[in-house]
Amino acid sequence: MSAVDLVIKGAQLPDGKAADVCIQGDSIIDVTSSYKGESVTTIDAKGCIVLPGLVDLHTHLREPGREDAETVLSGSKAGAKGGFTALSAMANTSPVADTAGVVEQVLRLGQEAGLLDVFPIGAVTQGLKGETLSEIGAMADSVARVRVFSDDGNCVSDPLVMRRALEYIKKFGGVIAQHAQDPRMTVGSQMNEGELSARLGLKGWPAVAEEAIIARDVLLADHVQSRLHICHLTTAGGVEIIRWAKARGINVTAEVTPHHLLLTDDLATSYDPIFKVNPPLRTEADVYALREALADGTIDIVATDHAPHPLEAKECEWQEAAFGMLGLETALSIVQMTMVNSGLMSWQQVADRMSHKPASIGGYEHQGQRIEKGSFANLVVINPTKLWRVDRDLVLSNSSNTPYHGHELPGVVEHTVFKGKQTVMNGQISRVGGK
Ligand SMILES: [Zn+2]
Repeated sequence: MSAVDLVIKGAQLPDGKAADVCIQGDSIIDVTSSYKGESVTTIDAKGCIVLPGLVDLHTHLREPGREDAETVLSGSKAGAKGGFTALSAMANTSPVADTAGVVEQVLRLGQEAGLLDVFPIGAVTQGLKGETLSEIGAMADSVARVRVFSDDGNCVSDPLVMRRALEYIKKFGGVIAQHAQDPRMTVGSQMNEGELSARLGLKGWPAVAEEAIIARDVLLADHVQSRLHICHLTTAGGVEIIRWAKARGINVTAEVTPHHLLLTDDLATSYDPIFKVNPPLRTEADVYALREALADGTIDIVATDHAPHPLEAKECEWQEAAFGMLGLETALSIVQMTMVNSGLMSWQQVADRMSHKPASIGGYEHQGQRIEKGSFANLVVINPTKLWRVDRDLVLSNSSNTPYHGHELPGVVEHTVFKGKQTVMNGQISRVGGK
């Protein structure tokens, strides 16, 4: 038998068994207890865990329009470094991704970067204004084959517009990803509403502003029998609504960000805008409710809401600062720390919440497949026992607004494999440009 292209030797599969994963071309051709043949490249992965390549359903890549904050290429590098083999580019670019032309441009930039799959998300409404539906059909029919639509950053707050959008996407099996934030209840809001916001003199952002939209939209999705996804859930009350909706058989899925699984609103006492994010950091009780809901499957997936911002947008007064934080390069470590090391979730469940399910919600071909013969070779190899220190000056993103600067985190991404090729080798980007 001739040599195979790549063998990942001795890594632990998500189910806990060690195996050799053999890759030829862009596919896994064998998963065996001990591969005896030749290989062009061998990765010694003893002590490491191999997972299907991570899939992010919520990424802000900022291109076109704000290339100083991030480009499709720099975001792809950050994603690959974080173990991702697919990202979903949110529509709030400039121009907004509300036409076939823009989503095709983003798709093409992703292919040129060649480090992972970039799936463009289309805007629900023209210019994210919440008034008139965008060219949803044209984006769905385009080369980009858009299936996920979102005005993220803005809420589709008009119930009639939301209803029409939910009805429209049914004909091609799409999904509306809602940024649940009642705009009237959150005018000028700066942080979670509570005793702390009052004490700090920062305008509060009540949990009910998020929960009221979630409740309305699960009812709307039920009424028109369509598919709804809730972006970045942050409150215990929101979890209860999703739990209720799922029990009734309503077709809804939900995501949580790594930062909402770890950070709490008391970080605002520092007045450091690095912790200013939309939706805001909530209370410790909310964090525990979110962890529990992710573990029991009420929350389906982890999504990063990676939100790069240039220095000047963050190094200013809290009130003036932009909302958002980086997430791609630290997501897996934060999930390991909060969910695996705490005993709440297995690696199999991590594979499910960060790869299988997001790929399934997005309808992403060739992503989120099991590690078995015949699957596409999209994989990440991590060393869960190694620690690393986050350094904002070393991130691959064009921005540096990570809330974890200086923190020591568990779990190092040693290798990322995209379509059979190593994009990350021993923790370093190994391949740029897929042309
Ligand atoms: Zn959002």
